[in-house]
Amino acid sequence: MPELRQDPITKKWVIIATERSKRPSDFPIKQDKKKGGNCPFCKGNEDKTPPEIMAYREQGTNRDTPGWWIRVVPNKFPALQPGASEPEKQNFYLTRPGAGAHEVLVESPEHNSSLANHSTQQIREIFHAWRDRYQALVNQDEIKYIQIFKNEGAVAGASLEHPHSQLIATPLIPPVVAEELTGSQSYHETQGKCIYCEMIKQETQEKTRLVAENEHFLVFCPFASRFPFETWVITKQHQASFEEIKDEQLQDMSEIIQGTIQKTAGLLNYPPYNMVLHSAPVGYNNAAYYHWHLEIFPRLTIVAGFEWGTGIIINPTPPETAAKYLREVSIDHGQEKEELSWQEIH
Ligand SMILES: [Zn+2]
Ligand SMILES: [Zn+2]
Ligand SMILES: [Zn+2]
Repeated sequence: MPELRQDPITKKWVIIATERSKRPSDFPIKQDKKKGGNCPFCKGNEDKTPPEIMAYREQGTNRDTPGWWIRVVPNKFPALQPGASEPEKQNFYLTRPGAGAHEVLVESPEHNSSLANHSTQQIREIFHAWRDRYQALVNQDEIKYIQIFKNEGAVAGASLEHPHSQLIATPLIPPVVAEELTGSQSYHETQGKCIYCEMIKQETQEKTRLVAENEHFLVFCPFASRFPFETWVITKQHQASFEEIKDEQLQDMSEIIQGTIQKTAGLLNYPPYNMVLHSAPVGYNNAAYYHWHLEIFPRLTIVAGFEWGTGIIINPTPPETAAKYLREVSIDHGQEKEELSWQEIH
């Protein structure tokens, strides 16, 4: 029997379609060979991007020249740009100038690298740069929310194959985050607790959807997972905004995300994926009800008519099954997944 499950925060429903339950090998991934060539993010091509906003680079090297290991540049085709943003009524409709910021964070000078094969140290530098840019933008006028995200693979929307993440700062609180705020606030009003902290407690007790855990972080497949092998990465200590992340948390976050990406890569043959940060909007850092987290979605299914029509997503892999696979896959020997018995797991 298929099962409808409700996300306790957003109140959205998903269908866990047990009848067409799918295992990792049911999602064949075609690996596109990286083409390389004329890439604006490769070292030596610094003049092919707008001037850098920030870089972590060797002492004595100049701006916009090689010697960097992390480099942040404005997006050449920005979705939003610095400026004022007053809403304006145009007859029946509402508009406002597209004010904000759009930056690209180049995660490595090496074209053929990825989160799955970076060193832990390099991953830590990436998240360190996320924090630096977050803290720099949070105080700018007009900015209400900072969205950091990563698209890996063409199917997930990456138009350039060089490893990078992006940051878009918006002049309003985006609907997805507004929904999480409303849901978590109303839970707090009735229960007096942070719903995310409660979820951490629940997942740690139940263990069936747990993927990994270290001192500061937890990775689990959410109860109402929208996508096969969806995972959430959450800090165990209550913290509303990513802006507040401490160095020791950065280290644990890097290690646990590296492990999660490597497990997903091993299990599903380096699938395209999106990774999105959800953090408290500007001015909400002290919210007792909101709790920042990362959501990772491998892009294995297609959102089609039913999903677009209803907002109800059909997920063919129960999160309990996904979590079991992710727990058991060996990072060094991804191919061992074939040895897992499907009957045993399902
Ligand atoms: Zn490149
Ligand atoms: Zn919390
Ligand atoms: Zn979220």
